Amino acid sequence: MPVNVSQHPLVAHKLAILRDRTTEPKRFRELVRELTWLLGYEAMADLATRERIVETPLEPTKGAEVEPRVGLVPVLRAGLGMVEAMLELIPTAEVWHIGLYRDERTLKPVEYYNKLPDAATVQLCLILDPMLATGGSAAATVDILKAWGAARIKQLSLIGAPEGVATLEGAHPDVDIHLAALDTHLNERGYIVPGLGDAGDRQFGTFAGPTSEPGHGPSDETAEIVRRLQRDLGD
Ligand code: URA
Repeated sequence: MPVNVSQHPLVAHKLAILRDRTTEPKRFRELVRELTWLLGYEAMADLATRERIVETPLEPTKGAEVEPRVGLVPVLRAGLGMVEAMLELIPTAEVWHIGLYRDERTLKPVEYYNKLPDAATVQLCLILDPMLATGGSAAATVDILKAWGAARIKQLSLIGAPEGVATLEGAHPDVDIHLAALDTHLNERGYIVPGLGDAGDRQFGTFAGPTSEPGHGPSDETAEIVRRLQRDLGD
């Protein structure tokens, strides 16, 4: 089950409000959190558990506890909005930040922050990034986590593009991908269509004016990279 697109009606309902261009940052952040909660619940359905005996007020009974140590890896900055919801679901999780930004011309991920210790401290890593667009950041994050020694990795994104799914699946077929929706394509600036715009800007209210709207002024280089991804997808 490498790609799982949620079929839950609550996910579909909340996602429609999230996409709406009139949804303000406060509500947008709440929805990112609510959707992450629902997606995280689905993504962790296969976690191994071990038996634990608990004493109820009446008698001892068999209970369960989650076995693997879980690490949350939000990709800065848009992934930050997904952390709190995941910590509500799994409060013992460790949070490891990896900073990658997408060079807006080349669409290539550039690492600028990584404080992972030398050896992996968790068995399962959940990469949190609302948008799986070109897949470049996702594949680079998985490279980093595998080199660190993470045994199992899942990618949680609210919206994915076919190009991004193909890139991540091609580079790392063992990584499960969990999405709230799989959209139709990337535009020539590398934005997911229909998408929701820039997930970081919409969460944090950082709009620089009309030219920051997705779809404005693609560089030749960016457009060529998107065309190449789309050609690869067609092969
Ligand atoms: N990052 C975003 O925030 N939005 C997109 O559509 C693609 C990448």
